[in-house]
This record gives sequence, C-alpha cells and structure tokens, in this order.
Amino acid sequence: MTSIVVLGSTNMDLVAYVAKAPGRGETVTGRDFRTVPGGKGANQAVAAARAGAEVSIIGAVGADDFGLRLRAALEHSGVDTDLLRTVEGPSGTAHIVVDDEGGNAIVVIPGANGTVTSLTHGDEALIATADALLLQLELPLAVVAEGARAARERGVRTVLTPAPARALPTELLSVTDLLVPNEHEAAALTGHTDPLAAARSLLDDVPEVVVTLGAAGCLYAARGADPVTVPTPRVRAVDTTAAGDTFVGALAVALAEGRPAPEALAWASAAAALSVQREGASTSMPYRTEIDAAAA
Ligand code: ATP
Repeated sequence: MTSIVVLGSTNMDLVAYVAKAPGRGETVTGRDFRTVPGGKGANQAVAAARAGAEVSIIGAVGADDFGLRLRAALEHSGVDTDLLRTVEGPSGTAHIVVDDEGGNAIVVIPGANGTVTSLTHGDEALIATADALLLQLELPLAVVAEGARAARERGVRTVLTPAPARALPTELLSVTDLLVPNEHEAAALTGHTDPLAAARSLLDDVPEVVVTLGAAGCLYAARGADPVTVPTPRVRAVDTTAAGDTFVGALAVALAEGRPAPEALAWASAAAALSVQREGASTSMPYRTEIDAAAA
C-alpha cells in the first residue's frame, strides 16, 4: 500500500456565523457556532487516507479537550497518530468569523503546533519509509525545512503547499520536489499575477509546480515540458473549504502509486470537485471508491 507521511498542523476551527462581522469595539450576536477539526496538515492527512493510502502524521496537539478530539478525528479517518505529540498548553485553534456574504476573517493561534521545532529519530525513521512527505507552512519553518531535507536525503518525494503565503527560504525550495500553491500564493511567491508566468518562474527553484485555480482547474508545469492546464469537473459548489487540501492529498496518493502526472491531476481534480459539493472541511473529503467513480 502507498505510504504517505504528513509533517503538519492540527487545529480546531472555531467557526462563528454572523450576519455582519463586528468592527473594532463592536459586539454582535451571531447565528450559529461550530467546532470543526482542521489544520492544513490534518486535512491533507485525512484526504490522503480517504484516497487510499496508509497515512501517518507528525505534529502536536495540546493537553486539552481539543487535542483529544483532534487526535480522535484523525484516527477515525484511518490516520496513524503515533508520532502526533501531546504537549503542555493549548491545541492550535483557528477563530473564524463567517458573514452572510460568505466572507471570512480568521485568527490562527498555533498553540501546540508551535512546539514542533525539530524532528526526533522516530520521525526521521518514519519519513524514510514513506513514498511521499506532505508539508505546509503552519508549523515552524525550520522544522518544515528539516523534514524536507530528511526526505530528500532518503529519496522520498517532497510535496509542499506554501500556505499560509509567506516568503520561502531557497534552502526549503531546494529540497522541494513538487510545489502546489493556489494562484494567490503563486503570486505572493513570485510577484506574477499571471499563473503561467508564476509557474515558469517557480521552475527556477523546484522541478515541478501545480498552481491550483479553483473552478478553473489547475496548471501543471515541469522542467523541460510545456505547461498544461487541467480542467476540473464542472459542479455546483456549496463549500470550497479545504478544496486545496483535498486536491493535494489525492494528488500525492496518485503520484506515489506511479500514475503519470496528467492522470494523477485529473483524479485529484475529481476528488476536490467532490469535496466542494459538500459542506465542511475534512467531513467533505471523498473516499477512494467515490473518486474512482467520479474520475471514470
Ligand atoms: P482552499 O483554500 O479552499 O482549500 P485553495 O485556494 O487552496 O482552496 P483552489 O485553487 O481553490 O485551492 O482549489 C483546489 C482545487 O480544487 C482546484 O484546482 C480544483 O481542482 C478544485 N476546485 C476548487 N473549486 C472548485 C469548484 N468550484 N468546482 C470544481 N472544482 C473546484
């Protein structure tokens, strides 16, 4: 079975639904409140597990109720949490205010995620057994780079989602095999708002790039080949939360299975298009049989 390791964040998303978000000094009464397991690392882990891989996550939760729920949610989706530490203090949280126009404002407090500053021997041994290591930018940058380096040294493919957007050290890019920004992150990294120009420029640093373009699909670029646009199924989207994480999780599984890039991208697009037709983040992620049926 394909083996994927995720070095990444777990957060409890605390979502308040309001007609209009409060301004400074203002108090408003909201309509609804939900707590939803999230974090880009955990979301990608769940997506890859449902897409049919054996998945483990390296990261940390706090010694609180959220930590227990975050771990249980991962295990419920079949993600191995043996190397998910439980540390003193709070779990990571994302405080999200969603207004009636679908706009949102988010405060992320890293909590336990911020304590993952280096890899253990156990982490490195696990990474060595993987077909791919998935990384994002919600853990301290130093440990993300350490993980990517450890994977590269052992010939394990590294897949980096550069979110939340920030400048990346060349040291991290130099050990990234596949970079998967959305169009905003691609623009932030390169200064090019045109995804094709951004992808071309990113190929100076990494051998393969996929820029995701929402309902317009994605753009795939690799050194020495012409960039191609891969369409995504036309569907009625009800909630696009974690579409990107669903896409990356499924893409990593398909590539690790040895499928050629165009086929893997079409399969990942089918997975992400399924997820946007359902409410929620990890709850909306499709299982392998559903992806196979949608991609057929
Ligand atoms: P998010 O932050 O919501 O997780 P993102 O900005 O990282 O998403 P997007 O580019 O919006 O990533 O979407 C990732 C992929 O999901 C797209 O490349 C596409 O395949 C699929 N997708 C997103 N939105 C839609 C949609 N409305 N219809 C069909 N497919 C979609």
